[in-house]
Amino acid sequence: MTDYPDLKLFIDNRWRTTSDTLPVLNPATEAEIGRLPIARKAELDDALAAAERGFRVWSRTAPRIRAQIILKAASLLRERGAQIAPSITMENGKPLMQAKLEVIRGSEFFEWDAGEAQRLYGQVVPSAPGVRYTVIREAAGIVAGFAPWNFPLSQPARKIAGALASGCSIILKAAEETPAGAMHIAQAFLDAGLPAGVLNLVFGDPAEISGYLIPQDRVRLVAFTGSTSVGIHLTEMAARAMTPVLMELGGHAPVIVCDDVDAQAAGVMSAVRKARNSGQVCTSPTRFFVAEKSYAAFAKAFADRAAQVRIGNGLDSATEMGPVANARRIAAMETLVEDARAKGAKVLCGGVRPNQPGYFYPVTVLAEVPDDARVMREEPFGPIAIINPVSGLDDAITRANALPFGLAAYGFTHSAANVDRLTNEIEAGNLSINTLEASVAEVPFGGVKYSGHGREGGAEGLHHYTVTKTISHRMELETEPTVAGAKP
Ligand code: NAD
Repeated sequence: MTDYPDLKLFIDNRWRTTSDTLPVLNPATEAEIGRLPIARKAELDDALAAAERGFRVWSRTAPRIRAQIILKAASLLRERGAQIAPSITMENGKPLMQAKLEVIRGSEFFEWDAGEAQRLYGQVVPSAPGVRYTVIREAAGIVAGFAPWNFPLSQPARKIAGALASGCSIILKAAEETPAGAMHIAQAFLDAGLPAGVLNLVFGDPAEISGYLIPQDRVRLVAFTGSTSVGIHLTEMAARAMTPVLMELGGHAPVIVCDDVDAQAAGVMSAVRKARNSGQVCTSPTRFFVAEKSYAAFAKAFADRAAQVRIGNGLDSATEMGPVANARRIAAMETLVEDARAKGAKVLCGGVRPNQPGYFYPVTVLAEVPDDARVMREEPFGPIAIINPVSGLDDAITRANALPFGLAAYGFTHSAANVDRLTNEIEAGNLSINTLEASVAEVPFGGVKYSGHGREGGAEGLHHYTVTKTISHRMELETEPTVAGAKP
């Protein structure tokens, strides 16, 4: 059997256990693969004290040295990818190749942010002779981070990279269902020489941990990725402490397929992409709005390819799509498909859970789905695609923008005029044309509307982890209260 690590908390550069534990299950077999220690108030107080000490050291560590330690940790993750990937597959279910790519992606987040750590420039603002206005960016302080289970390594990597590159310390509550990914990151930083207390990793009851950490004065940023409902709850809690938030929340990504592209090729590519991570991606392409002329060819190509997706244990090299992450996702898929079917949607493929152990659900293609079906408004966060015809670009854009989400959106077209309209009119933080890739380290990623606010990655990703401080410096002691530097 492939090794799965002994699960532990990581506080003040020490691995710790507690007497309370939770089971961690393999979603492909439903078997228990580990017991996860739970942090209670005592462990959270230790993490806060450690993060305070860590912040004092780390925020005063030269950016170049911070970058070197982050780059060392990233290179250890890359070196260890082949050992790390099976544990991600075991706890999350994704195929081994996707787990390996996730380790690389997590490393890229660290590498990018390590570079940005050295470019957190301030400003010298033009001023009158004898006066200097300087604006600097300072690390915000202790970050309370919350990462979900869909990418056990790269989701924690985003939060840890942003915090550490900016000079912050972080207490990260990674997902209880998938703890090993974040543990591998902590081990890499321990081996890379990160000072104690800068990175702390806890698990437990999510509501208890967020309810304890967020109101603390010492916590200066709440960074969360997960569902919109939980994001709103944490934002309300942070508002009471006047603590800023970085929120990466749900999506329901529209894909506009214009009539000037190869509908068959676009359909095949979309089906493969829908299967990625069993559709459990906040940018997963979900609502396909297809020009009438291309509709039949696109839907057929999509459904034919989707029906061929090989489902199985992610450790088996033939597997294209693993299980969904837990029993809650199966229940959600079944409810949404049943509701759509009852309201008149056609099920082109999938829609029935295979009769085998594990949380397996096939790629399911729903066509001609009426607007009142729940799946048209609720993010499936699983392998369900909706394919509906549209009369033209106006119709497609109106439908794409109809939901309160605005994370990723996609368009397939070779027309510059269409691209120009999509660019100007689509309400989303990320628009991708002729590709279903929505987020790479070097560009900012985040949502509008109920998909959250703030951006991770790109040139602006570290800004949320910093605060600006303005220094007004008069060379001579001011002797009379005038507008600084100006002669009356
Ligand atoms: P959920 O809403 O219960 O949990 C979502 C995430 O938030 C989990 O990681 C969970 O541990 C955490 N969480 C829940 N309550 C919390 C609290 N009070 N304090 C701190 N963290 C808390 O839903 P779920 O069944 O685990 O996941 C399904 C939904 O979550 C999906 O519909 C999807 O919208 C969303 N999700 C989004 C992403 C993303 O990348 N944006 C990732 C995973 C899940």
